[in-house]
This record gives sequence, structure tokens and C-alpha cells, in this order.
Amino acid sequence: MSGSLFEDASQKLEKALKYSAMSEDAIERLKYPKSSVNVSIPVRMDDGSLKVFQGYRVRYDDTRGPTKGGIRYYPTVSMDEVQSLAFWMTFKCAALGLPFGGAKGGITLNPKELSKFELERLSRSYIDALADFIGPDLDIPAPDVYTNPMIMGWMMDQYSMIHRRITPAVVTGKPISMGGSLGRDAATAMGAFNVMEALLPKFNIVRSNTTVAVQGFGNAGANIAEMLFQAGYKVVALGDSQGAIYSKDGLDVPSVRQFKESTRRVKAVYCEGSVCNLVDHEEISNEALLELDVDILIPAALENQITEANAADIKAKFIFEVANGPVNFAGDEILNQKGIHVFPDILVNAGGVTVSYFEWVQNRMGFYWTLDEVNSRLKQKMVEESERIWTLSQEKEISLRTAAYVHALNRLGEAVSARGTKAYFIERV
Ligand code: GLU
Repeated sequence: MSGSLFEDASQKLEKALKYSAMSEDAIERLKYPKSSVNVSIPVRMDDGSLKVFQGYRVRYDDTRGPTKGGIRYYPTVSMDEVQSLAFWMTFKCAALGLPFGGAKGGITLNPKELSKFELERLSRSYIDALADFIGPDLDIPAPDVYTNPMIMGWMMDQYSMIHRRITPAVVTGKPISMGGSLGRDAATAMGAFNVMEALLPKFNIVRSNTTVAVQGFGNAGANIAEMLFQAGYKVVALGDSQGAIYSKDGLDVPSVRQFKESTRRVKAVYCEGSVCNLVDHEEISNEALLELDVDILIPAALENQITEANAADIKAKFIFEVANGPVNFAGDEILNQKGIHVFPDILVNAGGVTVSYFEWVQNRMGFYWTLDEVNSRLKQKMVEESERIWTLSQEKEISLRTAAYVHALNRLGEAVSARGTKAYFIERV
């Protein structure tokens, strides 16, 4: 693989440009992030030493509203990665019709090497460094890889202390008791499930005959695996960063989850109460999981999992991108040629940011919704936008990814044009 993640991300957009009626002004704007910051975060470690971490926040585009996007804690976080993720957030929010632009943040670190005290100090210091860069009407962070509700709570708290105002709407994905929304925890998986249930019937899929492999067992991966299991799909493979397990007869996902929660590893088990028994399964690598002969493959971990190096070996018929950017541009081209249907990240995993939007709305109203209200509004949004993107792909005979970008571009283009374009100011056509 050559070039940066951002160059690769931009190629997916280039492909969509010719199908949208976007003005040149708008296209020019979207080539560059609006603003980016790189901050050094000094943290007093538990042993008394001082360590300085590198943190980033990129606000990619705010044409459609304040910018929105998660914060990731991971060893490979870089400006290039954060910028690409902020770029995807811009299109994700536009594709879903949320009144937000796109942003992303991150800190380069291995969170497993920090104590809870150190993590809290780090999270608060990150907000100290970014306090003028974020805000409920400016830029609203949320969780992403290896960040969770408690970290979001610390961040909201820190921002509120600096500004001397309780400001719940500055961060989403908070604990419920601090202004979080019911349903936000499982929202990414729930949104993906809604997309699957809306679009798979177009291919005459019968759940009980449909085999699924899920790569990634974090918040999104574990929840989508469990939802599919409960709905009657046959989940035959699951993987986390340590490795994967496979059973052709299907895995009991709730039991695997219970085991993983107590031991931090996935294993094929059957648990009753607190007793878990090992059941027949094969241990396979994460690479092998991706190449299994299954109906549905769900990459729910990190970017660049399917590239030109392995795309030719992918056997799944449908890929639902629950992770951000799991298939690179070259890999996508190969999958398209093979006739594999790829359901793009900017639609499939948008349930997370959609419920973040609901959380922000509830914070600003000071009036909180029931879980049923959240889930039914989420479903309505996911199904509506899935149908629109599906129709566009059928009408223009383009992939669902390109259709999702065209759909997002049209909304972004409208917001740019509403302020006047070259045609309005000079050519008057
Ligand atoms: N990190 C999530 C994403 O990539 C959620 C972002 C948000 O809720 O703002 O979509």
C-alpha cells in the first residue's frame, strides 16, 4: 500500500464527484481541512515522572453545522489518520442529514499501559489544551476506539470547570447520569443492524441460513455480533486483537462475550450462570477470519484491513463496514470487480453519531427521551437514508459507497451554494 490514509480516502470522494452536481467552489473547499491542531499533553505519571503525549484534533468542514466526531486513544494515531477520520465524519453527518460537520481527535498512546489515574489526568489535560477549540456550537467530541463513557464524562467535566458553566452538550457518549443518552452505548451496532435489515431483503437473505464473521470485539463488534445472533443469523467467527475463533455450526455470542469480559480473550464457550464450558471451535488468525467463506463479513476494528494485498482472497458476498475505513481504495476496486457488495462505513456505522446528535439535542433541551424513543428515531433515520442511498446506486448504476458519497456531496453542495457560488456572483446563470 502506498501513499497516506488521507490520499486513499480522497480517492473514494474523487470517484463520486462526477455524479454530483457540486460547484467547483465547493469541491475546492472540501480538499482541505478547515483547521487542525497538534497539542503536547504533559501528564504526571503514577511513579512521579512526567510524560508528554501527542494529541490531535482536526475540524474538517463546518459548512453544515458545528463539527462532530470521536476521540481515539491508540498507538498508531497520527495527524494523517485523524484528518482522514475527520474527513469521513464530514460525509457521514451529511449522508445522514445530521446538522453537523466532521471532526476527529486522538492521542498517540497505548491505553492499556496507563493506570486509571493516569488516563484521567491525560483526558483532562487534553481538554485543557483544546478548551478553546471545542464547544457545543463549535466542535463536539465523542468516543471512538479505546475511549468510553467515563472518559467522555471527565472531558465534559473539565470543559465545564474551565468555562465555569455545566456544559453537557460539549461532549457526547457521556455516562447517563452526566447527561448521556439512553441507547448511545449500542448505537453504532444498532444503526448497522438497521441498515442490514433494510437492505439485505433486497437480496432475498434468509437469516437462519446466513453465516456471519465479525472482526473486532469492541463496543461495535461485540454488540453487532450479539444483535445478529439474537435475530437468528449464524455467527460463525469472531475475532479480537489477540486472534479469532471459528465454528461452522455457529457460536453462542452472549457466552463468548461473557467469557471475554472476565478474561479479556475470546473463546468459544457456552456459559450458564457463572459456569462456562469450552465448545468445539477452531482458533484462527484475524487474517484468516477475513478470508472465510461466509455470506456476510463485518470488519468492526480498524482501517485498512482489506487492501490490494488480500481483497482477491475475500469470499464473503456482503461486507458491512462497521469500522471506519476498513477497506482501502484499491481493495474496494477489487471487491467491486468480484461482485462483492460493500455497504460503506459512512452509512453503516453512522448510528453512533446519530444517537450522539440525539444526545446533543436532549442536552440542549434539558429533556430526556426513553430508550424506545431513541431507538425508534434511530431506526427511522437509518432506514430512510439507506433507502435513499440504495435508490441512488440503482438509478446511477454505481456502488453503494459512491452513492453514499454522492448523497452526502449533494447535501454539502446545497449548503455551500446557499451562501453563493461563482455562478451566482459572477456568471449570474
Ligand atoms: N466515533 C464515532 C464515529 O466514528 C462516533 C462519533 C460521534 O458520535 O460523534 O462515528
